[in-house]
Amino acid sequence: MVKIEDSCVDCGLPCLGKNCPYAEEAHYYCDKCGKEDILYEVGHQQLCAECILDLFCTVEGSDI
Ligand SMILES: [Zn+2]
Repeated sequence: MVKIEDSCVDCGLPCLGKNCPYAEEAHYYCDKCGKEDILYEVGHQQLCAECILDLFCTVEGSDI
């Protein structure tokens, strides 16, 4: 999921409010584990690489 969050860094300058690039920063969280990461569209979900791999079974014997 994409969440727009206030990521104020307390830069010490007079606050620009909505005009500050940090005020409304997009953050990308996995729909399954909630980790902030690179996401991939899988059906209607947005998942991280780890969760996508969890959806598949390894071929027996290939994981030595
Ligand atoms: Zn995940």
